[in-house]
Amino acid sequence: MAMNQRELEELARTRAATERLHTFKLAGEPLYLVRSRGTEPGSMHQVHVSRLGRVDECTCKSWAYRRVCTHAAAVTRRLERENPGRVRRALRNRAA
Ligand SMILES: [Zn+2]
Repeated sequence: MAMNQRELEELARTRAATERLHTFKLAGEPLYLVRSRGTEPGSMHQVHVSRLGRVDECTCKSWAYRRVCTHAAAVTRRLERENPGRVRRALRNRAA
């Protein structure tokens, strides 16, 4: 059975944690750089964060295909660590 979106996001979060993906904040921009580990080793992907504090784009193929990737998950984990209340509000807004 195919995994649903929520299950794919959970899997990406687990992989982001297991693989210890590092995120690099670009000063003054709502952008983070995350090094690719899988199909394009060595390259960097750009993850964009919306004004609500929610990841809304990554430049990798997985995001383009399913809107789920370990880079986005790694940035989401960082945002939750740095500002837990804001991310919870963004998730609630999305569910509404
Ligand atoms: Zn990505």
